[in-house]
Amino acid sequence: MTDTVSHDVLIIGSGIAGLRAAIEASQVSGGKLSIGVVSKVHAMRSHSVCAQGGTAAVLRVDRGDSAEAHIFDTIKGSDYLADQDTVERLVSFAPKEIFQLEHWGMPWSRDSDGHVAQRAFGGHSYPRATFAGDRVGFYEMQTLYDTCLRYPNIQFYHEWYVTRLLVEGGEFRGATAIEIRSGNFTAFKAKAGIIATGGAGRLYAFATYSHSSTADGLAMAYRAGIPLKDMEFVQFHPTGLVPSGVLITEGARGDGGILTNKDGDRFMKKYAPQKLELAPRDIVARAIAREIQEGRGLHDESGLDYVNLDLRHLGDEKIKERLSEIREVCIKLRGIDPIEEPIPVRYVCHFTMGGIHANIDGATPVKGLWSAGEAACISVNGANRLGTNSTAICLVWGGITGRAAAEYAMHHAPANFPDQAVMLEEKRIYDGIFRGEGKENPYDVKHELEKTMDEHANVFRTDQGLGEALKTIRALKRRAYQHVEDKSREFNMNLINVLELHSMLDVAEVVLAGAHARTESRGAHFRLDFPKRDDEHWLKHTLAYKTPDGIRLDYSAVTITRYQPQERTY
Ligand SMILES: Cc1cc2nc3c(=O)[nH]c(=O)nc-3n(C[C@H](O)[C@H](O)[C@H](O)COP(=O)(O)OP(=O)(O)OC[C@H]3O[C@@H](n4cnc5c(N)ncnc54)[C@H](O)[C@@H]3O)c2cc1C
Repeated sequence: MTDTVSHDVLIIGSGIAGLRAAIEASQVSGGKLSIGVVSKVHAMRSHSVCAQGGTAAVLRVDRGDSAEAHIFDTIKGSDYLADQDTVERLVSFAPKEIFQLEHWGMPWSRDSDGHVAQRAFGGHSYPRATFAGDRVGFYEMQTLYDTCLRYPNIQFYHEWYVTRLLVEGGEFRGATAIEIRSGNFTAFKAKAGIIATGGAGRLYAFATYSHSSTADGLAMAYRAGIPLKDMEFVQFHPTGLVPSGVLITEGARGDGGILTNKDGDRFMKKYAPQKLELAPRDIVARAIAREIQEGRGLHDESGLDYVNLDLRHLGDEKIKERLSEIREVCIKLRGIDPIEEPIPVRYVCHFTMGGIHANIDGATPVKGLWSAGEAACISVNGANRLGTNSTAICLVWGGITGRAAAEYAMHHAPANFPDQAVMLEEKRIYDGIFRGEGKENPYDVKHELEKTMDEHANVFRTDQGLGEALKTIRALKRRAYQHVEDKSREFNMNLINVLELHSMLDVAEVVLAGAHARTESRGAHFRLDFPKRDDEHWLKHTLAYKTPDGIRLDYSAVTITRYQPQERTY
C-alpha cells in the first residue's frame, strides 16, 4: 500500500514564495490548518538563496520616488506585455512586505541616517532596490525560514521530490512524491495547493541558476492540463562571470560599474544614451551580444567571448562593503580581484518571465490550486522583468496565495482522493523507468538539450534556428527517460535526474514553440528575421496547452489600464 500523508494546504517549493505562503497560511488560520511544505532540496538550499542585488519597493516618496513611477518603469520594462492591474498590485503591496520582513528580523542595509538603504537597478527611474549587502536572497530566506519554524503547524518535507499533481474533475486533490533519502513513494492528500517551484533556467548550460531549477512544477501543471503562459520570454542577464556563468549582480552597475569592449569603449553610450549600463536587461544583453558579434569582444581561453565590467573606480571600501559576495566569487572562481582588475562577463540565462498560467490572485484554472513566485506567470514581468521585481513578486504573491489557499481549505471538506492516479504514477516510475531497459545516457541527452537551447533560443533567434531546435528536442524526447542505471532505492539521484530531464524536455518544447510562432521582437524575445515589435498582431499572451497531438498554442489579451504601448527608448 502506498504511504499517505494529509495536510490542509500543500505547498510545493520552499523558496521565498513558498516560505512566505506558508507563514501567511499559518497566520490566517490562527495556527489551525496543517500546512505541508515539500522541497526537493533542503529549504535553505532553495534557489532563492542565490538572489544578490535587492528587492524593489517604493519607500522614499518623501525623496522623489512614487508608486506611479514604479508602475510605469515595470510596464515599460515589460515591453508592454505586463498586465497593468497586476503591476499596480505588486507596487502597492511591496513596501508592506519590506517592513514585514524587517519585523521578522531581516538585516536590511542602512543609510547613515538609519533608513533602509536603496540602490539603483536597471530600468528603474529611482534607486528603489532594498538590499542586504549583495546577499539579499540568503538573508530573506533565513528570515522567512526562521519565522516558519516558529509555527508548529508548518511541517517541512526537505529532500522530497514531487512527481505529479493529483487533479480530479478540475479540482486539486494533492500530489505524489518520492522521499529521496529512502526512495519511498508517498501520496499527499490536501484540500488546497500552491506551486512555488521556481523557474526553468537550467534548460540552458550557461545559466546563473541553481542546478535544481529544472522546471518540474511547470511540467507538472502542464501535464495536469494547466496552460503555460509566455514561455518564449527567457531573460538573459548581461553579466554572467566568464567562464562559469555565476551571476555578477546588476547592483554592481547600480553602484557605478561600467561596461567596456576590447578597445576600452564604454559601448552602452551607443545603445542607451541616457540610462547607459542601467538600461533594462534585454537591451544591455543585446548590446553585449552585438559588440561580441561585431568583433569588439575579448576572447577567453574557455572559448567564450566577453566584455569587461569595470568596478575599479568604485574603490576598495565601497566594493568590500556593498559587493563583497561578488568580489569573493571573482577571487575564488576566476582568480581576479575586482578592486584591481575588470571582470570578464557575457549575457547568461537568468530568469523565466513565463510560467504557470495564473490570474491576479495567483489562482490557476484548477480549483483549489494556486501558483506563486517564478513558477507562476501572473504577468507582472511581461516580455522582460526589471531586476529586483522578482523577489518582490515572490513575497507579495507568496502572501496572497498563502491567504487564499488557507481560506479555501478552511471552507472546504476533504474530497474523494484519486487512488487510481496514485497507482498509475507509482507504476510509471517504478515499473516503467526504474525497471526499464535502454542504452541512452540521460546526461548526454541533457547536454544536447542545453546545447540546443544555448544555440537557438538565446538572445538572438531566427525561424530556421527555432525550427531546427524544435525538431531536435522532439527527437530527444523520444530517446529520453526510459530507464535508470542505478537501481537502488535510497538517494537514487539518477532516478530524480531522469524525472527532471522529462520535465525539462516538455518545457523546452513549449519555449521553442512559443518563440517560433511569435513573429515579432518584444523584450527578451528578439527575432533577427522580425526585428520590430508588432502590437497589431502580437500584443497578446501566449498560452501553451498539452494535448494528445502535441502542443496547442492559444492567445489571450493583455490587460491595459493606463499606459498605451509606446516606443521604448532609454
Ligand atoms: C543568481 C541570481 C540572483 C538573483 N538575484 C535577484 C535579486 O537580487 N532580486 C530579485 O528580485 N531577483 C533575483 N533573482 C531572481 C530570484 O532569485 C528568483 O526569481 C526567485 O528567488 C525565485 O524564487 P521562488 O520562491 O519562486 O523559487 P525558488 O527559490 O527557485 O525555489 C523553488 C523551490 O521549489 C522546489 N522544487 C522544485 N521542483 C520540485 C519538485 N519536483 N519537488 C519538490 N520541490 C521542488 C525547490 O526545492 C525549491 O524549494 C536572482 C536569480 C539568480 C539566478
